[in-house]
Amino acid sequence: MKTGIIYHKKYLEHEQSPTHPERKERLAYTMDQLIEEGIFDNPAIELIEPVEATIEDVLEVHTKEYVDFLIRESKKGGFIDWDTNIPVGVFEIARLAAGGAIRAAEAVLEEEVRNCFAMIRPPGHHAKPYIGAGFCYLNNIAIMIRWLQKRGIEKVMILDWDAHHGDGTQEIFYDDDNVLFISTHQMPLYPGTGFPYECGTGRGEGFTINIPLPPGTSDEGYMMVIEEVIKPVAEEFHPDFIAVSAGQDNHFTDPITGLALTARGYAEIMQETVKLSDKYCNGRLVAVLEGGYSVESALPYTNLGIIAAMAGMDISCIREPLNYLPELKYRKKEVALRKLEDNIGDVKKVHSKYWKCFS
Ligand SMILES: [Zn+2]
Repeated sequence: MKTGIIYHKKYLEHEQSPTHPERKERLAYTMDQLIEEGIFDNPAIELIEPVEATIEDVLEVHTKEYVDFLIRESKKGGFIDWDTNIPVGVFEIARLAAGGAIRAAEAVLEEEVRNCFAMIRPPGHHAKPYIGAGFCYLNNIAIMIRWLQKRGIEKVMILDWDAHHGDGTQEIFYDDDNVLFISTHQMPLYPGTGFPYECGTGRGEGFTINIPLPPGTSDEGYMMVIEEVIKPVAEEFHPDFIAVSAGQDNHFTDPITGLALTARGYAEIMQETVKLSDKYCNGRLVAVLEGGYSVESALPYTNLGIIAAMAGMDISCIREPLNYLPELKYRKKEVALRKLEDNIGDVKKVHSKYWKCFS
């Protein structure tokens, strides 16, 4: 079975400004890299075109008031916050991004491919039901999960590894016990939420797990989170589908965050995620691109790394561009690891009343 990649050249048409971190080169450079590496010549890879999500799909997550606002402002140009302008025509491209996530889920569900990477933009995980934020307009992964739920998929595990807390996704599924939202994110950092005590409400209590990462957290730290928290909870939750909010802004060269992941580290984390999907849900796994702003020195390599891992390729060739490597030593990895141990302890304490593995 193959690995799908969702992409459309219209994703390059969205631009808030040429110097905005979330700019079209994020995907343009990744595509160049994938072509150079011969990814699309590999018989294990299938390039899939998305279609726009329907308004009905969007309304499963967002309020009518917000959708009407976006449609209106998208015709003339508007504004949500300082990081998130509404350029003319963004609504159509945001619908194509959400539709890309849905198409990825459909391709997996229909067994056209084993798993799929939705290489889409604009990103989505900060978008709440009633407003966009932080470069996001529509919550792509949430729209995808609501689409899956309508097609009989009951239990979805979201792994949001973007460096920023997925506050929009958390809010959407906060009271849903069928969607386990696990977020790792740098703290302190935008948007300022994602403490361990934010753990869900009502039926959803215990089904939101926030793991704050100290600045400097490295590949080793992430692996510790996977072993100590993600694997035991996945074993107990037993998901029917795994959805990754793949934010690639944990890389040590990312200009707007302070973590210390490498491209190889990303590939290894995805390898572990693929193993979980094989173990619990017949390999059903979709990764949806979120952030990642080291446009030249990281994003093409981290994206390549996760695609290679999803397709079961040899990841030993995934390397960092050598001229950037000296930067890695400035990120305080040892200090971060000790603080991360404390944070994991806090997470286990909060969740010991919901999960047997922590009690
Ligand atoms: Zn981010």
